[in-house]
Amino acid sequence: MVKNISILGSTGSIGTAALDVISRHSDKFNVVGLTAYSNISKLVEQIHEYSPEIVCVQSNDLAIELRKQISKEVEIVIGEEGLCNVASYSKTDVTLTAVVGIAGLKPTIEALKAKKDIALANKETLVVAGQLIKQLAKENNCRLLPVDSEHSAIFQCLNGENAKSISKIIVTASGGAFRDKTREEMKSLNVDDALKHPNWSMGDKVTVDCATLMNKGFEVMEAHWFFDVPYDDIEVLIHKESVIHSLIEFNDGSVLAQLGVPDMRGPIQYALNYPNGRLDLPIKKLDLLEFGKLHFEAPDNKRFPCLQFAYEVGKQGGTYPAVLNAANEVANELFRKRVIDFLEIEKTIRTTLDAHDSINDPNLEQILQANEWARKYSFQVIENQLKSKI
Ligand code: NDP
Ligand code: MG
Repeated sequence: MVKNISILGSTGSIGTAALDVISRHSDKFNVVGLTAYSNISKLVEQIHEYSPEIVCVQSNDLAIELRKQISKEVEIVIGEEGLCNVASYSKTDVTLTAVVGIAGLKPTIEALKAKKDIALANKETLVVAGQLIKQLAKENNCRLLPVDSEHSAIFQCLNGENAKSISKIIVTASGGAFRDKTREEMKSLNVDDALKHPNWSMGDKVTVDCATLMNKGFEVMEAHWFFDVPYDDIEVLIHKESVIHSLIEFNDGSVLAQLGVPDMRGPIQYALNYPNGRLDLPIKKLDLLEFGKLHFEAPDNKRFPCLQFAYEVGKQGGTYPAVLNAANEVANELFRKRVIDFLEIEKTIRTTLDAHDSINDPNLEQILQANEWARKYSFQVIENQLKSKI
């Protein structure tokens, strides 16, 4: 059976990797929905190549511009509502969520309500609303399939295993671009330095999140929700080669790991084709002799406090995770725009978390309110920091 796929964020790093997988297996997949934010030229190319039935762009002006550039009959929808339409499009079997940030939350909810399986790359959705998303997936009998490489690794290791036998999950981390930098050196490092990721080629936001280790913190929270494992049983291991994508320790002492060269097409194909096994792809084969040695070390919480913020906030729950994510989105963006320094990212997040009054078991509206509050608050924190420098 051919699966109909909608891709939210098709013009991004994950989106284009997914389309590469799909184009090599057109007997298995058919593209029905695509979305861009503002990259019209790439979307036009994708429309010509994959003939989707529905596409989404950010604004009316962009939709008019897009219409001029395509001759095909394609429904064009707009903004957040449009994103939700593509996510829940009637013919879709699997929705791949590959937009950045909290923008992925509402469309994922709409897709679940419409009983779509989700291939989830957009980790921020699980970070801010893990409980809600899990509940909706259960109620609507939908699969939540991990695309993040670490979670795909764990998912692959769990194949045929009883998840109740997990004693520990070990999430590996490259350590990001600043793995070996001192705090003193971090003060003067800028966005160009942060974007030089040692192993993975990804979008800018997630690459900066790797440099702060916020990304690894989010992945700990993501692992908690995907696999129902308590935070105390999720460990992070710095492994600079990114060859072992993550590990599970079982209660008999056995440890299973998934290995491979870093290439997101691996986890993407596994999620899109699930439960039908693996697909042929021209991914470089792993040659362990090329590496000779693999390295492991514990994360340094003093140099990278964002990882601990995630454990703290994950355990506290309530609206704290939404605040963590929002403050990080704001600080990450302003660092990328060279408004703040690298170490001000963690400072902004800490100050915003400390000022928040969390609500327990929040509904969607309360999560979105906390997100709005934290965005405004963290902007203010940054403004005050800038004023104090003048
Ligand atoms: P990119 O920045 O490369 O791509 C983002 C995509 O989302 C683009 O299509 C962009 O459109 C669109 N987009 C951006 N902002 C919005 C918005 N506000 N509303 C709607 N669409 C938007 O990101 P990545 O592909 O790197 O990452 C996507 C998600 O996957 C993130 O959550 C990330 O953490 C996660 N992830 C990524 C990995 C990777 O290897 N890249 C690995 C694991 C997880 P346009 O091009 O028009 O701007
Ligand atoms: Mg990852």
